[in-house]
Amino acid sequence: IVARAIDNEMKTRGEEFVYLDCRHLNQKELYSHFPNICDKVKSLGIDTREQMIPVLFAAHYQCGGVKVNKNGQSSINYLYAVGEVSSTGLHGANRLASNSLLEAAVYANNAANHAIESIRNRKFQEGIPAWNAEGTTHPEEMVLITQNFKEMQQIMSNYVGIVRSNLRLERALNRLEIIYKETEELYKKSKVSRKLCELRNLINVGYLIIKMAQKRKNSIGLHYTIDYPKN
Ligand SMILES: Cc1cc2nc3c(=O)[nH]c(=O)nc-3n(C[C@H](O)[C@H](O)[C@H](O)COP(=O)(O)OP(=O)(O)OC[C@H]3O[C@@H](n4cnc5c(N)ncnc54)[C@H](O)[C@@H]3O)c2cc1C
Repeated sequence: IVARAIDNEMKTRGEEFVYLDCRHLNQKELYSHFPNICDKVKSLGIDTREQMIPVLFAAHYQCGGVKVNKNGQSSINYLYAVGEVSSTGLHGANRLASNSLLEAAVYANNAANHAIESIRNRKFQEGIPAWNAEGTTHPEEMVLITQNFKEMQQIMSNYVGIVRSNLRLERALNRLEIIYKETEELYKKSKVSRKLCELRNLINVGYLIIKMAQKRKNSIGLHYTIDYPKN
C-alpha cells in the first residue's frame, strides 16, 4: 500500500522519487534499528537529523512465473525452476521474503534430489556442432544494444511495474514491438555476445509479462491494476 501510494505521487507529479522524513525521530533509535541503511545514507552525504532521504520502491524480480510440480519440475523436460521465479501454489501471487523464503529452501532440496536421481538415467547428446558465426559481424556501435537495454528497463518499470493499467500495458507492448524488431534485425547480422543475448531474453520475458498482465482482469497479490482493482 505504501509502495502504491509512492508510485501514485511519482506518476501524478512526474517525479523520480519521494522524500522520507526521519528528522523527527530519535536518531539513536533509528540507527539501532537500521544501522546499514543509516550508514549508507550518511555515506551519500545525507544527514538524517536535518535532511530528508530521497526514496523509491524496488521491484522483486520474478514473482512466480514458471509453474512447477512439487519437485520443482517445469513443463519443459529437465528444466527446474526454484525460488521466486517458480509458481508452486504455496504463496499465491506474492513475492518470497522472510518466512516464505522457506518455500525456496524446501523446493530447492526437492529439485536437487529429483535431479540427482533423474540424471543417472540420462544420456547426453554428443557431437553438438560449434556455433556458426559465418556472415555475421560485430555490431559497429554498442549503443545499438545499450540504448534498447535502457528503454526496456524504463518501459517495464514505468508501465508494467507495481501499478498497471490497460493503457500502460498497451503502450508498453507497442514500444516493445519496435525494440523487438530492431533487436532481431541486429541479432541476425551480429556475432552473438552476452549483452545481445541478454537483451533478447529481456524482450522475451518482458513480452510474456505484459501479455499475461493483459489477460488478468483482477488485482491479486503483487499484480495490481487500476482498471480492475478488486480481487
Ligand atoms: C529490494 C528487495 C528487498 C528485499 N528485502 C528482503 C528482506 O528484507 N528480507 C527477506 O527475507 N527477503 C527480502 N527480499 C526478497 C529476497 O531477496 C528474494 O525473495 C530472494 O532473493 C529470492 O531468491 P531466489 O534464489 O529465488 O532469486 P534471486 O535471489 O533473484 O536469484 C536468482 C539468481 O539467478 C541469476 N540469474 C538470472 N538469470 C540468469 C541466467 N540467465 N543465467 C544465470 N543466472 C541467472 C541472478 O543473477 C540471481 O543471482 C528482497 C528483495 C528485493 C528485490
